[in-house]
Amino acid sequence: MLKTELYNLWFAPVTARCLEGDTLTLEVADEFCEVWLKDNYLDVLRSVVSRVAIRPIQVNFAVRASDAATTPVPLSTDRASLSESLPATQSGPVDRGAERSAGNRAAAPSSEAPRRQEGLFNPNNTFDTFVVGSNNHHAHAACMGVAQKPGHTYNPLFLFGGVGLGKTHLLQAIGHHVLAHKKNARIGYLSCERFTNEFIEALQNSQLTKFRKKHRELDVLLIDDIQFLQGKERIQEEFFHTFNALHDAHKQIVLTCDRPANEIQGLEQRLISRFEWGMTADLKAPDVETRLAILKKKAAALGVNLPEEIILFLANRIRTNIRRLEGALVRVAAYAQISGKSLDLETVETLLREILQEEGKVAISVGEIQKRVADYFDIRLADMTSKRRPENIAFPRQIAMYLARQLTEHSLSAIGESFGGRDHGTVLHACRQVRDRMEVEAKVRQDVGYLEKQLTR
Ligand code: ADP
Ligand code: MG
Repeated sequence: MLKTELYNLWFAPVTARCLEGDTLTLEVADEFCEVWLKDNYLDVLRSVVSRVAIRPIQVNFAVRASDAATTPVPLSTDRASLSESLPATQSGPVDRGAERSAGNRAAAPSSEAPRRQEGLFNPNNTFDTFVVGSNNHHAHAACMGVAQKPGHTYNPLFLFGGVGLGKTHLLQAIGHHVLAHKKNARIGYLSCERFTNEFIEALQNSQLTKFRKKHRELDVLLIDDIQFLQGKERIQEEFFHTFNALHDAHKQIVLTCDRPANEIQGLEQRLISRFEWGMTADLKAPDVETRLAILKKKAAALGVNLPEEIILFLANRIRTNIRRLEGALVRVAAYAQISGKSLDLETVETLLREILQEEGKVAISVGEIQKRVADYFDIRLADMTSKRRPENIAFPRQIAMYLARQLTEHSLSAIGESFGGRDHGTVLHACRQVRDRMEVEAKVRQDVGYLEKQLTR
């Protein structure tokens, strides 16, 4: 049996159900899978999971109920979500409740508070593990400044950038740094969603005074994903007062967001202007050198040694999201370890098919597809949107529509629109046509395959 088949059959369907203390429960499809995996791979699984978590983890199995109420974490691709749910002192199922109890601990006045506060943060998200590149050096410097002198340098610090580019990592790194230098600092770290939920709970239980005290008597308030304030007037009002209380008292506020403050729909002007009072820094997608540096650092932390060729392949193909880059690395490393053999590029490509497809979707525009396809078939770009119908023009146009459907997340009508205002039925027809012809004509298969590869490179 081929290695990839082995992987797809036994490992790809396994999901992580929960992490309780040091025990990870894996969900499998049936008892046969459980027995087979236990008999053949328990040791390997245990060692891989322990490496990823950077502490010893026991592995249990549970047969998946057909109506399972839990949201599984896919083990195979998403190491980030596994490690994100592994703060040092957390125990209990991987769910929002963990975040809640962590949030509550922040302001706990007991003498255990400082030690416990460290458990708020993922131990991996420190300045030490953060790779600085041209895409993030400004944000990194601003965070360092704030961490060294909270409340004195930039207040607030507003970090923004796309998914998986290191916002949460930097936010937590500030928390780690402050605690390491000032054990008794009172740090509030929570997602904007959590802030919202706590506020609603406090309203319902008539505990607003307690809620306000908790959030307004902090030295540092770190709020992740502030875009969740969008359209929530009552929460914005509450947050406005929290912000003012802390800011007036020269307490540090750091906010992260997936876009600039003025692009948050329905955010009150007075909040937008406050968010822009201090320092704003953005995180961009990493360049290839930074991607390589990140991969090497992560591989070393995981204790895996992958051939340069494979590291380069990952760095070249996954460009837009560091979480995805990390997920790909972990998947490849785990596979290498399980199979015990050195990997070739073909296997890696198969292992990462979905990840590479996801990456292709965000990176490519319909315009790029049209241009590549027009070049390849030696027709004019204008013919992608024209009404001309000779076969040597109409079929490449259909191929471009098919590729746009495969490689972007645009709807059929949006794609039709980009092809000279055609309707969604035309795009659907084009996709069927190309698929049908690929089945019977080797030349079409080759052309489309080649273009797809070029476009996702
Ligand atoms: P965001 O909050 O922006 O969506 P995260 O901070 O969660 O992104 O980062 C996603 C993953 O990528 C995390 O595991 C994080 O540790 C890692 N990461 C992001 N940027 C860097 C970097 N510059 N160096 C090392 N790891 C990084
Ligand atoms: Mg985040």
